[in-house]
Amino acid sequence: MNQRPHVLILSGLDPSGGAGIQADIQAVTALGCHPLPVLSCLTVQDTRNVYNAESINPDLIRQQLECLAGDVPIHAIKTGALGSAAIVDVLVQFVEDKSGIPLIVDPVIKAAGGGDLADEALVSAMRERLFSIADVITPNGVELVQLGGIENERAAAETLIAQGCPAVLTTGGHGDEPQITNRLHRPGSPDAEWKLERRGGEYHGSGCTLAASIAAGRAQGLNLEAAIEQAQSYVSKAIEHALTVGRGQPVPDRGGAAATS
Ligand code: PLP
Repeated sequence: MNQRPHVLILSGLDPSGGAGIQADIQAVTALGCHPLPVLSCLTVQDTRNVYNAESINPDLIRQQLECLAGDVPIHAIKTGALGSAAIVDVLVQFVEDKSGIPLIVDPVIKAAGGGDLADEALVSAMRERLFSIADVITPNGVELVQLGGIENERAAAETLIAQGCPAVLTTGGHGDEPQITNRLHRPGSPDAEWKLERRGGEYHGSGCTLAASIAAGRAQGLNLEAAIEQAQSYVSKAIEHALTVGRGQPVPDRGGAAATS
């Protein structure tokens, strides 16, 4: 019988199939792991924006997590849009009871089109209770400024680290410099830095894909830097073969060429 590393995913449903739990499931599967998907919220959304969202009952999520944990080994956890502060509390309690599982947090706050995916209570819950137990958080440029409270990338990452976050991966995908620079900030060690070729444009679900791919690498036993490298190379391939799905942003092709090349 075959076995694969298991990645527990807690994220939202995007019916366009571009971002959210579908992105996570596809990336985790393509990188050779088995996804354990738990939904945090349902959204009304297309490839252009998010128009409404409703979170799942936190007690149902608690039951799902407990039920799974009683049966299935969990090798890494990835979170995306979390729906509500109460869901963060359920997750924090679950992770604290199972210390040692790497937790990759994509602190989703807004869709690329500007639609809200987190209220103030949810942002505070992530900052105050979730980040300190994460292996790494992966904010995009907009999330980094909001969470760190300052425009400068390094200063924002240092603020989050001073508040107890063990590692911050800052990503340059949403900027317009000729190369994308991703940096891993950790207390007490020099930043690791990666320069990637920019293809131009924005891709719906690229942040989800990156964070889910990092979780897959960590579930496979890679250290954080190696997991980030594997994830970046998979995301680049998925973007190179991006799909036209609707009238908004193209969607990384996570299941096609990126999975097999
Ligand atoms: N999760 C959900 C459910 C979403 O709807 C979105 C964006 O619309 C995201 C996560 C974040 O998407 P991205 O990877 O493009 O930052």
